[in-house]
Amino acid sequence: MADDCIFCSIANGDIPSEKVYENDEFCAFRDINPGAPVHILVIPKQHIERITDVTPDSGPFIGRMILVANRIVQDEGISDSGFRYVINCNRDGGQEVYHIHMHILGGRHMGWPPG
Ligand code: 5GP
Ligand code: ZN
Repeated sequence: MADDCIFCSIANGDIPSEKVYENDEFCAFRDINPGAPVHILVIPKQHIERITDVTPDSGPFIGRMILVANRIVQDEGISDSGFRYVINCNRDGGQEVYHIHMHILGGRHMGWPPG
């Protein structure tokens, strides 16, 4: 856990959140400022700042994170209608929180390209 990381604090319960899923490795909670009717963030409990910090050794967790997200979109009822998974990276990617997180956005039609 990193000191002063909001998402580490959410993962360990120090900051409250509306969690929708949790296991040993990940937790998922509703975004505080939702951009769609369903807007959930999936994070690894391990503090990794950005997607480009993933290494060949640590990388396989990404596949497990997708499996967690796939379960959540089923539970949320948006698997068939469709959804978007987004990982923002660094300034131009719009990353605000430097602890890897994957956005699940759904419940409305998503435009393309994103802004
Ligand atoms: P980023 O821009 O880094 O990809 O996304 C960060 C997301 O985290 C934003 O959508 C923002 O609304 C969300 N967020 C920031 N702080 C909190 C918080 O304290 N609780 C929750 N649930 N979401 C947060
Ligand atoms: Zn963290």
